[in-house]
Amino acid sequence: MNTEAQRCLLCKKPKCALQGCPVHTPVPECMLLYREGKLDEAGEMLFRNNPLTAVTSQVCDWKQFCYGHCVLNVKQVPVRWYEIEQEISTAYLFKCKLQRRSAELEGKRIALVGAGPVGIAAAVWLFEAGADVTIMDANPHMGGVLRYGIPAFRLDKKYCDAYEALLVDAGIKFCGGVEVGKDITLELLSADFDAVLIGAGAEKPATLHIPGEEKAVQALPFLKDPSAFNLGKKVIVIGGGNVAMDACRMAIRQGAETWVYYRKTFENMPANPLEVEEAKADGVQFKVFQAPVEVKEGGVVFRDCENVVPEDGGRVVTRIIDGTDHFVECDTLLTAISEKPDFGMFKGTDAKMNEWGWPATSEAGLVDGLSNVWVAGDFILGPKTVVEAVASARKAVKNMMETL
Ligand SMILES: Cc1cc2nc3c(=O)[nH]c(=O)nc-3n(C[C@H](O)[C@H](O)[C@H](O)COP(=O)(O)OP(=O)(O)OC[C@H]3O[C@@H](n4cnc5c(N)ncnc54)[C@H](O)[C@@H]3O)c2cc1C
Repeated sequence: MNTEAQRCLLCKKPKCALQGCPVHTPVPECMLLYREGKLDEAGEMLFRNNPLTAVTSQVCDWKQFCYGHCVLNVKQVPVRWYEIEQEISTAYLFKCKLQRRSAELEGKRIALVGAGPVGIAAAVWLFEAGADVTIMDANPHMGGVLRYGIPAFRLDKKYCDAYEALLVDAGIKFCGGVEVGKDITLELLSADFDAVLIGAGAEKPATLHIPGEEKAVQALPFLKDPSAFNLGKKVIVIGGGNVAMDACRMAIRQGAETWVYYRKTFENMPANPLEVEEAKADGVQFKVFQAPVEVKEGGVVFRDCENVVPEDGGRVVTRIIDGTDHFVECDTLLTAISEKPDFGMFKGTDAKMNEWGWPATSEAGLVDGLSNVWVAGDFILGPKTVVEAVASARKAVKNMMETL
């Protein structure tokens, strides 16, 4: 890997970090430490900037982020920084210990709702600043989507275990199996703690609004516990995002003939193109320009679609073609069309909601109407990525620290 590190130009204004990375990973500084063999120092620098560095270096769509912005991209092959980052940050995660680095928040009690990337990153920063941190999560263990969504063949669960051990060993309280809004109210939390940060993700599945939809299996519960589902011989997955790719790749590993049906083209798929290629390599079959119109016993009725270029030359639209209904047999239909946050925990509080029913917040995520409740990650951004969740947690934590 050192040969790869030698290729880095150590740019003064690194586009990989400044434009390509939502958490502005200090690539040249760490690259220099790596070249000098100072792996612990590089690991610490990465971890303090982004506590999830050991994970993001594995699951980020690097073509969109660091690699895609490498200046060598113009004439040569970009530097595979993410591989170097993974080497440094994995070694660091499995041996580091959290330490109090300042007394800025000494005596402050902070509650974190959700132990996904937002909760883990915020816990590290707040603990280091001296706060007394408590994390609550509806699930029994930490990790959020990293543990209960992304399959183990893409992200080894030892990373979630390492984060849980790191936080708990430092003295951060973890209350697993506690659902805020049901087991404890947000009102009580905000009265009891100096500040609350909600990183409860986006887990509520969007619906297709077609007859028979209740017969389908949602992708997220399936990914959370695949062994609880008997999929049968043939599975159809509806969707074109990362969740759909993970669901189809998991289904084929259970021995089912697996198809992905998508209403637009491959170019329109929101999934990381690498994931689509890997699904194909796994043996998943794809059918594009297919819109589901009804779920029936033993299969799904689809209607063909086509792309239409408007006469005025505007944006291409995908149109359903009437009279093209056809029944496709399957044993299980898995739906992975999108997810949204559940804002039920705001009921009974003074939180102000905007016209779309989402909490109104400041730029840093402080909820309008509540003086000490912040939101971050998928819970306020909608389904995004791990690195974007960490970036938004950082903004909220910074603002929380200034306020406290
Ligand atoms: C299947 C799948 C694959 C993905 N693949 C990638 C990928 O390859 N790369 C990438 O960058 N991103 C990927 N993502 C997106 C990424 O995982 C998320 O953007 C990220 O996890 C968001 O972090 P978060 O902390 O906001 O929320 P989450 O990770 O969703 O964590 C939220 C936590 O809050 C808890 N919670 C929810 N409600 C309550 C409540 N009321 N009380 C207490 N706890 C609660 C949940 O149990 C959960 O543990 C994927 C997402 C999915 C679903």
